[in-house]
Amino acid sequence: MADVKFDFTNKTVIVTGGAQGIGFTIARQFLEAGAKVSIWDYSEKALETAKSELSSFSARLQTLQVDVTDRASVASAAQTTFPNTDILINNAGITRDKSFAKMSDQEWDSVINTNLTGLFNVTKSLLEKFNSGSNHKRIVNISSVVGLFGNFGQTNYAAAKAGVIGMTRTWSKELGRKGFTVNAVAPGFIKTAMTNAMPPEVLQQMSSKVSVQRMGETSDIAQAVMFLSSESAAYINGTVISVDGGLTI
Ligand code: NDP
Repeated sequence: MADVKFDFTNKTVIVTGGAQGIGFTIARQFLEAGAKVSIWDYSEKALETAKSELSSFSARLQTLQVDVTDRASVASAAQTTFPNTDILINNAGITRDKSFAKMSDQEWDSVINTNLTGLFNVTKSLLEKFNSGSNHKRIVNISSVVGLFGNFGQTNYAAAKAGVIGMTRTWSKELGRKGFTVNAVAPGFIKTAMTNAMPPEVLQQMSSKVSVQRMGETSDIAQAVMFLSSESAAYINGTVISVDGGLTI
């Protein structure tokens, strides 16, 4: 599938969890579209690999080691990131799956801290650092279809991702008058390192539940994110776009 070509020249974008998976593709596509991109991610090794893979864009790329659950780490990144953020993509996320009866307090806490409180921490730290002169400020939060429909074994993840949708809608109401749009993307089953590690028969079974009969590519999510971040989406605010191949129909 050919990707739509967007132009983000002179725009500054922050992508959390951008060193790998969906976030990496989002960061790459913004760079290809001319943006300055700051990748905030947890693992130094993954950041080094991402930096090397994106070396042709080094003049417009910054990589910062950040733990979105740690407010001091987030505050320090907000001080050192490129000035005048235009677009924030809150993408960093983890899973710690277990049935509700077996889920530990630690598994609950770590997913809520990363997938929900992490977005609060990052967005709060950057709010005053957005490009104040711009009427094209964008926040795109990565939720999940699980946040809309729930999923066996994902009490923590579903609660966090549903919370992301509540936060998205609230921010869209509060920040619309300040030149922001705030939207969410809810991916379905997407091919990443996490899903690649699953047995082929499980993947086959998962794909058969998707009406288009395939798992999503990271670029399927990146394209939705780019659209919501673009000028074309200026009147889309407070919405959730499911990108799931019809899984939830
Ligand atoms: P990956 O694990 O491939 O990438 C997530 C990135 O976020 C990793 O580089 C990870 O670093 C980083 N990260 C994790 N915790 C933190 C933290 N505390 N601070 C900073 N960075 C952190 O995941 P995906 O690309 O698959 O997922 C991206 C987003 O999409 C997530 O929010 C996920 O919930 C969502 N999503 C994914 C789906 C899928 O099928 N893949 C489906 C629905 C939603 P490290 O690996 O070092 O921990």
